[in-house]
Amino acid sequence: MDLLKKALSNMGVCKHSAYKKRYLNETNIRMAIYMSFIVLVLEFWMLVRYVYKRPGRTFIEYFDGETNYLIFFSAALVLMVFALRYTEKITRELPGKIVSVLVLALDISMMIRFIYRSIGEQSVTGILWGMKYHYLLLALALLLLIYETVIVKRDGKNDSYGQWFNVIFAVICMGFGVETSMYDISKHRQILCFITMIIFAACLLIWKPYVSVLILGAAFLYFYSLWYPHLIELDNLYNENVFEGDRINYLIFWIVMVMLSISIYIQRVHESAKDEELIEANEKLERSAIVDDLTGINNLYYFNREAERILKDPETDIEGKVFLFLNVENFKTYNDQFGYQSGNEFLISFARLICEVFPDDLVARQSDDHFVVLTDVEKVREKTEIVRNRVHAYAVEVYLELKVGAFRPKGRDTDPRIAIDSARYACSLTKNRYDRNYKEYNEEVDNRFHKMQYIVNHIDSAVQNGYIKVYYQPVVWADSKDLCGCEALARWIDPTYGFISPGEFIPVLEEYRQIHKLDACIFEQVCCDLRRAMDAGKKVVPVSLNFSRIDFELMDAVGALEKLLEKYGIPKEYIHVEITESALTENIGALEEGMKRFKQDGFSLWLDDFGAGYSSFNVLKDYDFDVLKIDMTFLKGFEKNPKSPLILNAIIRLAESINMFSLTEGVETEEAAEFLRNAGCGRLQGYLFGKPMPVEELEERMTDGTYNISDKLLL
Ligand code: C2E
Ligand code: MG
Ligand code: MG
Repeated sequence: MDLLKKALSNMGVCKHSAYKKRYLNETNIRMAIYMSFIVLVLEFWMLVRYVYKRPGRTFIEYFDGETNYLIFFSAALVLMVFALRYTEKITRELPGKIVSVLVLALDISMMIRFIYRSIGEQSVTGILWGMKYHYLLLALALLLLIYETVIVKRDGKNDSYGQWFNVIFAVICMGFGVETSMYDISKHRQILCFITMIIFAACLLIWKPYVSVLILGAAFLYFYSLWYPHLIELDNLYNENVFEGDRINYLIFWIVMVMLSISIYIQRVHESAKDEELIEANEKLERSAIVDDLTGINNLYYFNREAERILKDPETDIEGKVFLFLNVENFKTYNDQFGYQSGNEFLISFARLICEVFPDDLVARQSDDHFVVLTDVEKVREKTEIVRNRVHAYAVEVYLELKVGAFRPKGRDTDPRIAIDSARYACSLTKNRYDRNYKEYNEEVDNRFHKMQYIVNHIDSAVQNGYIKVYYQPVVWADSKDLCGCEALARWIDPTYGFISPGEFIPVLEEYRQIHKLDACIFEQVCCDLRRAMDAGKKVVPVSLNFSRIDFELMDAVGALEKLLEKYGIPKEYIHVEITESALTENIGALEEGMKRFKQDGFSLWLDDFGAGYSSFNVLKDYDFDVLKIDMTFLKGFEKNPKSPLILNAIIRLAESINMFSLTEGVETEEAAEFLRNAGCGRLQGYLFGKPMPVEELEERMTDGTYNISDKLLL
């Protein structure tokens, strides 16, 4: 069964893919260019030769004598023009139209002339049969005319249509071969013309072997039927054996021709299969380069490319366009709560939702839960509100919020990458702002954006040039108010921007993963200050250092600090390690490892900003801290809110019960300090006892008696 299927498919009796079909058609038609060229040259030479050999005749005599050459020449011309047009070597339709009309006119005049000459000499059927090649030429010329006037306009390039040219031309070739060879036989010449024409026809009919087998077979039989009576007649020249041999050779010639066209066909099918695979692989690659794997919508690469094209298009109304950056806030919690798979499902639905609300706009996924859209300013707020409401409805258990940043392009050469960055930055300004979900990039945002870029681009030089300074904020015992330590806080005093607050540069450096450079610089300055004070015989107090989660990812934070302590000869009791609570919510692999090492190596570990985040109590359960720094938000409105003292009381007692010391930040009033002391909070820090100050000022206050240095400095 398989063998039969294979045999049939080798004969072309099978369904090919559209690509293979086109490939076979095209190679066949390309072959027609070479074949028709040979015929054109050959027949032109024959036409000239005919006149040259028979000088002095009238035009009509030449016309009559050259009919066959003219048919063959015109057929080749039609085929050539079609093939050139099909392969797009000729792009205009005029040459095809002119050639087809001229050939039609020539053919019709030849037919009229033939009828005129044959009337009375031949029967009607004789006349009709005598014009068989004229019909074929007529068909060819008409095909070309129809192709140029109807087909191209309607279907574009039509593949199967082209094969009719080849078939008709092949039939003319073979007919010409048969007739010429019959004439040659009558003159006792060889049948070389028939052989040449068969080869021609075979070359033109490779796209479907069964068609070529049939056509070649018919031609061979037809020629044989005409040739056979002659051979019998010439019996005196042939003995029986020679005749038998000729017949066998004739059959073998046909078989060879058929095999040749089949083998070329199979080779072409293989080539096209390889080509097709390659094209498919390329297409896949190209698709994967522009499509986001998870959601199936476009990716950023595609977005940038298309956005650039849209902006450059003179038809686009630039003023009416806006780039949006969409971010789903709290998506990480959703992921934690429902798992990675559900998170992915959410992203897929979210992508669909955006495409649904912005159906005619450019939409892409940038990364994670970040999506970008290029849309019209008109109704943009309504549309983002629709998306926002649907996001709220998606998960009731976890509160998801949609935050949108918008950027309006300034001109046609706005770089989409910068536009998205700007929209993203505008979006980042809505973070943790419950009153703001949509922020457009304006002048104020622009200034902040540039400052942010400045921070990222200048952190290295700021560290090198000493623009990063450590300020120390005192920490006192709640009962005696004696100084028991201080916290090292970074300050950036810049020649261009002046004083930049940590609230500005810390989040930026964390986001752009540059914070370790700043922290390493602070650690070294602290060690240096401690060493200098020790060498000068001054009293020193332990210093708290703030660590970022990213420090542990970007450097060996523990190793780096220990090296510095060794270099400056500082006992580790003089350093407290502060980790902010919010650092402990996500991806804490490296941080957890670092905290363990700090504990093992005997450092005191402090939990900073307790109560500011969402997962405070889990943090207490899961990690081993020595000191709990209660966030200053609990003291906000302390006097007015009757709940505040109760909560603070409870936290301090909780710390006690799990063997942690407590410290409250942001103490600004005597009342608060008094309350905290009575509640049992061990240490206090806040403006009441001193703002962060340079080391010189701290030392001065330590010596002038403003600060009483406690005797019990260590835990
Ligand atoms: P933090 O570690 O919680 O530091 C305490 C912040 O509260 C400091 O703000 C301090 O000036 C401020 N503060 C202290 N007492 C009072 C008060 O009574 N009232 C008010 N309103 N504020 C008070 P600062 O210096 O602006 O630092 C902000 C945050 O930046 C720090 O919060 C810390 O998380 C981070 N940070 C500062 N320096 C560094 C550093 O060198 N490295 C790292 N990674 N983060 C740092
Ligand atoms: Mg701190
Ligand atoms: Mg704090």
